[in-house]
Amino acid sequence: SKLTGGNSYSYFDPKQQTLLDRQLSFESEIVRAIEKREFCAFFQPQLNGQGEITGAEALIRWKHPDKGLIPPYEFIPVAEQYGLIQALQDIVLEDICELLEILNELQLINEDFKLSINISHSQFKSSNFRSSLLNTISQFKVSSKQINLEITESMLSHDMNNTVKQMTEIESEGFSFSIDDFGTGYSSLSYLYAYPVNELKIDKSFVDRMLDKSGLSIVETIINLAKNLGMQVVAEGVENENQVMLLRERNIDIFQGFFFSKPLPLADYLVWHRGQVTA
Ligand code: C2E
Ligand code: CA
Ligand code: CA
Ligand code: CA
Repeated sequence: SKLTGGNSYSYFDPKQQTLLDRQLSFESEIVRAIEKREFCAFFQPQLNGQGEITGAEALIRWKHPDKGLIPPYEFIPVAEQYGLIQALQDIVLEDICELLEILNELQLINEDFKLSINISHSQFKSSNFRSSLLNTISQFKVSSKQINLEITESMLSHDMNNTVKQMTEIESEGFSFSIDDFGTGYSSLSYLYAYPVNELKIDKSFVDRMLDKSGLSIVETIINLAKNLGMQVVAEGVENENQVMLLRERNIDIFQGFFFSKPLPLADYLVWHRGQVTA
């Protein structure tokens, strides 16, 4: 048979074959990496206008033995596709609980301090989401009130009644919710009040564009919207003093970004946190 050649239709595309091979080998690599404990959470601090630490966001990292640190955008979609995302969430949540136990023990945090975890679409939609959260944290000396769940706008857009119901149940267990990357989705703003959401996180792309008049006005609009809805508002991806000043003038509640700290491994985060508290 004719496999390749000329302009004719080919039954076998060697390029496609390697892509499939690559994906399959990535899948088994992830399974292997879970077993070998190559995944962990890094933590990026969040600060209020007085410079006090109010929390941190957990961000997953893959410490690959040959390839080094692999960023989440390369493996989260693959993990999601192959049903491995739950295992990754458990690892991140366990790291969160481990850090919280230490911070509680050392009395380095007040009662409002929260660690945030990113929740993927498929996890959020799964029927055992709530029970798996509760199951994991029950193994640690932490309170659900110390854990915040970051979801995206697109997760809100389908099946409003069920989504509100599920979020309300999870909230009644003590967890809180943020909407991540706010402004990049297409949520119907008029319904935002109906969801039990504590916090809006302004996407980095808007923070980056604050020197333009239009970029600045988007940031202002989101801050005002959050305040009107009684929500807290976080600016993410804050990289320079100029942005800090503009955000401060507009009464942003919380800052997060490289200007303050990059995401840090657990041990380094603890050192940073202690330094900040005792400074
Ligand atoms: P995200 O939730 O929007 O996280 C913020 C991203 O911006 C992180 O990238 C963080 O390292 C980066 N960042 C923070 N401050 C700055 C800054 O000042 N400048 C710049 N240039 N970047 C900054 P990261 O860690 O590579 O994560 C990328 C995305 O992967 C996250 O975006 C999130 O959507 C996803 N992700 C990360 N960890 C998890 C996880 O545990 N579970 C799930 N489902 N998704 C995750
Ligand atoms: Ca996030
Ligand atoms: Ca974000
Ligand atoms: Ca983002």
